[in-house]
Amino acid sequence: MEYISTRNNQKIFTFRDIFLKGLAEDGGLFIPKSVKPFSNEEINNLKNLSYNDLATEIIHPFIGDFMSKDDLISSISKSYSNFRAKNVVKINELGNLKVLELFHGPTLAFKDIAMQLIGNFYEHHLKVEQKKINIIVATSGDTGAAAIDALKGKKNLNVFVLHPNNRISPVQRKLMTTNDASNVFNIAIDGNFDDCQNLVKTMFNDEKFSKTINMSGVNSINWARIIAQAVYYFYAYFKVGTGEPLSFSVPTGNFGDIYAGYLAKKLGLPIDKLIVATNKNDILHRAISGGDYTQKKVMETNTPSMDIQIASNFERLLFDVKGCNSDVTKQLMSKIKNNTYKIDNEDLDKIKKNFISEMLDENETIKMIKDINDEFQIVIDPHTAVGIGAVKKLGIEKNCVVLSTAHPCKFPKAIEDAISKAENLPESLRYINDRTEKFEVLANNIKKVKDYVTSSIRN
Ligand SMILES: *Cc1c(COP(=O)(O)O)cnc(C)c1O
Repeated sequence: MEYISTRNNQKIFTFRDIFLKGLAEDGGLFIPKSVKPFSNEEINNLKNLSYNDLATEIIHPFIGDFMSKDDLISSISKSYSNFRAKNVVKINELGNLKVLELFHGPTLAFKDIAMQLIGNFYEHHLKVEQKKINIIVATSGDTGAAAIDALKGKKNLNVFVLHPNNRISPVQRKLMTTNDASNVFNIAIDGNFDDCQNLVKTMFNDEKFSKTINMSGVNSINWARIIAQAVYYFYAYFKVGTGEPLSFSVPTGNFGDIYAGYLAKKLGLPIDKLIVATNKNDILHRAISGGDYTQKKVMETNTPSMDIQIASNFERLLFDVKGCNSDVTKQLMSKIKNNTYKIDNEDLDKIKKNFISEMLDENETIKMIKDINDEFQIVIDPHTAVGIGAVKKLGIEKNCVVLSTAHPCKFPKAIEDAISKAENLPESLRYINDRTEKFEVLANNIKKVKDYVTSSIRN
């Protein structure tokens, strides 16, 4: 498959190129030049596959000669062998509503599903080419832990994780900072997630720096994550098995997970609506409901993994809406940068064919955790509560699947507020409470971060 950047549709890249680069040098995001949908017959043939076999069939067409199909099969099997669910994910029923649990991986959030695979893709690549790679990643809390677990101890590779200091939950932090592998470096930035993300983008775009350290990235803009995440939309569709089109409600921050659903739809999966569920950092809800894409200041909420105002992956959708015109996309992205972009009605109509949106504030989120606990005696995490609440507010529970993105124990404060009891860590992870944490606190300053990275590599 051939890839291009959203800001230059002329230059062609291979999967290997785009996997290792993450972000294009022109600042754009990589996307396939074209996506061929599966035929109805092909979709039918996928129906009864195990999760791993399904993942192989969906991912294989995207990776070209990066690895053989046999190597892909063993990478997938290795990636998911330590999940607590036999078929990676589970589906739960809450009345009319189906909940797709994506948090049965090693660090208790959906991000493990793509990240474990990416870790094994790097390992495969580094077997062929023994050049040291430095991965730098920004996290709103969950990506970092998933990346560290997937990359710890891998040869010829270091991983640097930037998280917003004091703005993630202690469990989220400990899952990152108690890892003692010598190739793992945690940095707490005095700023918010968007600041962390901007620091990583600046390092990428500094060609001299990124070439010198052979920098690579695993943020949610990395196309490999999107493909790996498209798999569970298919799996859920087949498991729910009503034959009718399904809608999916997705707690959304960076627009990565929900964009994977859009990819599944482009691949021919009968998806009706993709529901963008946000917290009060609601830029995507304002955009999709009324075209207002102005950034406001990021507010802290009880769903920290969605405390984002720059939804990077949205660029991929805008590129599509603009008929894959990269010049227009480029202009539009500079308007977004100046905070002067409003989506016009014609484009908004196109977006609304596939997406609808809803927002939950802090109290609504807590109330939803309580209501679900009262009615079904299960504890959901606050992000999942936002996904469920969006569906309920929209009144479209029939034929709808909500993505449950994290284990409730990652967000004990919200759970405590809602149902006055603590949700414990799974037995296998309790050790993080007894270990010493290791991380460096740095100012939101590009020079300081670069210096830290370069000196850590040298040592
Ligand atoms: C990352 C994350 C999200 C948001 O996913 P995006 O791909 O950034 O939209 C939602 N919930 C949880 C628990 C997360 O970790």
